[in-house]
Amino acid sequence: MLSVKITPYLSVSFKRKLKISMSKIKKIAVFTSGGDAPGMNACIRAVVRTGLYHQLEMVGIMQGYQGMIDDNFKPMTAHSVSNILQIGGTILKTARCLDFKTDEGMEKAYQNVKKQGIDALVAIGGDGTFTGAERFSNKYNIPIICVPGTIDNDLYGSDYTLGFDTATNTVIEAIDKIRDTAASHDRLFFIEVMGRDAGCIALRAGISCGAEAIMLPEVDTAIDELITKIENGALNKKSSSIVIVAEGDKNGGAYNVAKLVKEKINFYDTKVTILGHLQRGGSPSAFDRILGSRMGFAAVNALLKGETHKMVGLKGNAICLTSLSEAIHFHDFKLEDDLMEMAVILA
Ligand code: ADP
Repeated sequence: MLSVKITPYLSVSFKRKLKISMSKIKKIAVFTSGGDAPGMNACIRAVVRTGLYHQLEMVGIMQGYQGMIDDNFKPMTAHSVSNILQIGGTILKTARCLDFKTDEGMEKAYQNVKKQGIDALVAIGGDGTFTGAERFSNKYNIPIICVPGTIDNDLYGSDYTLGFDTATNTVIEAIDKIRDTAASHDRLFFIEVMGRDAGCIALRAGISCGAEAIMLPEVDTAIDELITKIENGALNKKSSSIVIVAEGDKNGGAYNVAKLVKEKINFYDTKVTILGHLQRGGSPSAFDRILGSRMGFAAVNALLKGETHKMVGLKGNAICLTSLSEAIHFHDFKLEDDLMEMAVILA
């Protein structure tokens, strides 16, 4: 007798689709907001294609909350997100929108969301974006799931944020190039990298590039201590020195640190490089492409399971959800002790 075999994968997938088709959510909008980060496009693609897989209508909101207020929505098809995995920035554009912080601005945004028939939102951004999302969904009772898209890696509820890995790799590539010049000319370079509150990029880039010293917002490094390190390096016949300074270092940035050091050391030709905005862009690393895809996929599935007011995160390589209020208000971020100790010993 002929029997029909259903593979386990198909049956699980079918059950999931059946359950999800009973969800009240039929139309989801996705947007990016705050600072751009590599991997946002991978996330948008995953949100759109996961929604389409579940036969939902998918919409993109241009320029984050600004587009919500300006009625700047666009239908998203599978084709709308073709060929974007490898591109940095965000195809939906992003903006900082002060109007959204006001009651009038939010009301305008809500009227547009309602007019579009949108049942739920996926927001990709940092803690400012989450704060707006939480206020909006509390006020108007719209389900929302957020994805941590920021190169700073400083959000509670996720070991990694989208874009951090790519930004660190970009910084490493730049420092490697500067090291060639530093070594050829026997120079001392002060390189400023992003990190106003968190020294994640500075610490990892410093270890990866063998920086002689790393100045972090989390640690008070006395200038005399730094000078001793540089002098010891010179005594050990180092022909060049690289000092990485995170933006938020308490001595006031790379130019200031260089000035203070120069007053006491004159055996090196001293230069300063501020890496600035080049750290934000660029093609996302494999890690960020996969992270963005996982988080986007998880965000839509979470909404369809009835979740709301949550941030998707990665903890020990597993996708997890954290309440938005915890993600916004908890700050348990701490640089790893072993990395800090190792950076000093290996330099
Ligand atoms: P990020 O999301 O990267 O932290 P911002 O702090 O600039 O970036 O926040 C992005 C946007 O989120 C802001 O431009 C604003 O539109 C919105 N936002 C931030 N804080 C609030 C708030 N308290 N209420 C409403 N919207 C907010």
